[in-house]
Amino acid sequence: MKKVLSWITALALSSSPAIGTDNGARTLTQIVNDSCNVSSTESYDYCTLTDTSSTIDKLIAGKKVDKEIVFESDTEMIKYMGLGKENIRFPAKEGYNILLIPVGYEEPNELDQSMGYLADVLTDAFKKVEVNFSYLDVSMPIGIEKIDRWASLTNKDEANELKEIIKQFYPVDGLVIVLNHDQYLASGGDYPVFSGENSSGLYLAIHEVGHHLGLGDGYNRYYSPEELKGSELFLFSDKLEPRVKWAQTIVRPPIKFTGNYCICLPVYTFYGDDNIMNKYQSNRAILRLLKNDEPIFNPLQIEIMNRKVIGI
Ligand SMILES: [Zn+2]
Repeated sequence: MKKVLSWITALALSSSPAIGTDNGARTLTQIVNDSCNVSSTESYDYCTLTDTSSTIDKLIAGKKVDKEIVFESDTEMIKYMGLGKENIRFPAKEGYNILLIPVGYEEPNELDQSMGYLADVLTDAFKKVEVNFSYLDVSMPIGIEKIDRWASLTNKDEANELKEIIKQFYPVDGLVIVLNHDQYLASGGDYPVFSGENSSGLYLAIHEVGHHLGLGDGYNRYYSPEELKGSELFLFSDKLEPRVKWAQTIVRPPIKFTGNYCICLPVYTFYGDDNIMNKYQSNRAILRLLKNDEPIFNPLQIEIMNRKVIGI
């Protein structure tokens, strides 16, 4: 099997221009299914669930998994809290304004200390991106549920409504939900969520805000073929997400084979170095990078995020 696999790899690397292109309008799933007769290999394969696949892997693969409520919501209370600009700490600036929204922080001093610290570290970590961080000085009853370590909103409308309320007195672009929780919980997307009191809270904060600003993931064991076209992992250079493609043509990062596959197609990455979107980093490692003024993000990631915040 190894021989077949290395032959396929050699073919994929040599017979197509650069990283392979696909002229048709087929989806990545169709390409993978069409071009591969090998259902399993001895190699590490991103696109195949295994007996040891995590709950998160199963969730990504579209399997049904159990949820658990972490914080109860109170939609009516959110409407009638009487929020105003006096509740915003740190001023808005030109560019993309992100507001940290505390959930479960009932003690005002603890809230101020945690939010102020996170806003400072995020400002430093994203200093090459046109983004500004402020925080709300009151805890919000937003519903949060979790599946394993993946935490998310129970009802996205709640966050949509909160954003509309805040827009009346503050030029908010993105809300980031910070949980008063010490478990390792997080997710990215339109409304990133993470535990502010976990020992890896800085990693979770920076990684999830990175997702919010258009970056992909590179550390999961399982990916569906359609996910393999982002800033961290990809199958075909002509099927990258449009913003990644544009950033790639400007930055021209080196492309490396990961050594792993999706069914039997080789999976590629940019640079091939460790970074906060493809590998876990401890709070201590992050603080060391910031102290030494070393980059948290690579040049391609910076370009993608700056394109996202100006809306292109
Ligand atoms: Zn991630």
